[in-house]
Amino acid sequence: MIVVMRPDATEENIQTVIKTIEYCGLKVHLSQGSEVTIIGVIGDKSKLSKSNLELLEGVDKLVPVTESYKLSNKKFFAGPSIIKVGNCEIGGKEIVIMAGPCAVESREQLLSSAHAVKKAGAQILRGGAYKPRTSPYSFQGLEEEGLKYMAEAREETGLAIVCEVTSTQAVETAAKYVDMMQIGARNMQNFQLLKEVGKTKIPVLLKRGLCATIDEWLNAAEYIMSEGNPNVVLCERGIRTFETSTRNTLDISAVPVIKAKSHLPIIVDPSHATGIRDFVEPLAKASIAAGADGLMIEVHPDPSKALSDGPQSLNPEAFMKLTKNLKPLIELMGRSFNNHE
Ligand code: PEP
Ligand code: MN
Repeated sequence: MIVVMRPDATEENIQTVIKTIEYCGLKVHLSQGSEVTIIGVIGDKSKLSKSNLELLEGVDKLVPVTESYKLSNKKFFAGPSIIKVGNCEIGGKEIVIMAGPCAVESREQLLSSAHAVKKAGAQILRGGAYKPRTSPYSFQGLEEEGLKYMAEAREETGLAIVCEVTSTQAVETAAKYVDMMQIGARNMQNFQLLKEVGKTKIPVLLKRGLCATIDEWLNAAEYIMSEGNPNVVLCERGIRTFETSTRNTLDISAVPVIKAKSHLPIIVDPSHATGIRDFVEPLAKASIAAGADGLMIEVHPDPSKALSDGPQSLNPEAFMKLTKNLKPLIELMGRSFNNHE
């Protein structure tokens, strides 16, 4: 439930409502807009039954929030939320592109990728140091050594860095290096891991689970936010369907649906959504047209030698061409894009 205050409600009125809610053993989420103040109530609202909140001075109305996610809900906070990662902001006017290899394979491979994606206009370098591979025999990542190369690439290029974390130990280690932690599709409902990243204040890129509904995805965001970390960016990366022509099926409708339900920014990863490099550009364009706040694209200096996800990775030239081709569309959508060097 939310309590909508009248535009002329005083600070004292607001504090009285908050104290009344807290007295009943519930938590409060305050959203103070320029016009109206909204007080979100978190917890079992039956505990409020005798409090007559609607009669308190300054209260306009009580509106029920039927969804189980609250802090990520647009009804609690109209937004948009703008999440700061390094020097860039996700969810504002600017389209933010995160790019880099699927996995950090070596110092040279990573630094070369970092310079290439920076040159083409990316603001955030991606690179997996802990890889959640389908087969236990596939390359599993360089772990802390990989994080060190990522941090070195940040020093060299000024790009912010995002790395996936797959366990609570990885969260502890990655927290020393990264600007943003990624929760991968396979871990979207690993509630212990969600709580762990929620306890940090480090921004989280929360990918949609392979078979997750949008409501389940927003509840996963709620796990992170309810631990005290409001810095969540959602990433649509394709879902499992009966279609086998592409690795996954990009649910492009997730972009406007999320915009309608939540104040959190949403980016799209067309690389994992399709698994095929030729389809990355059309779906990147579709994502921008649908209103996404950014993109995540896999780029490798030599995709034919990549230890993971080579078939969907762009080489530096193809990535440069992609960002050049996206620019006019980004501007047409009324957004801006960090220019090429
Ligand atoms: C990745 O970003 O490299 C990755 C493993 O993505 P996802 O979790 O979306 O499969
Ligand atoms: Mn990958």
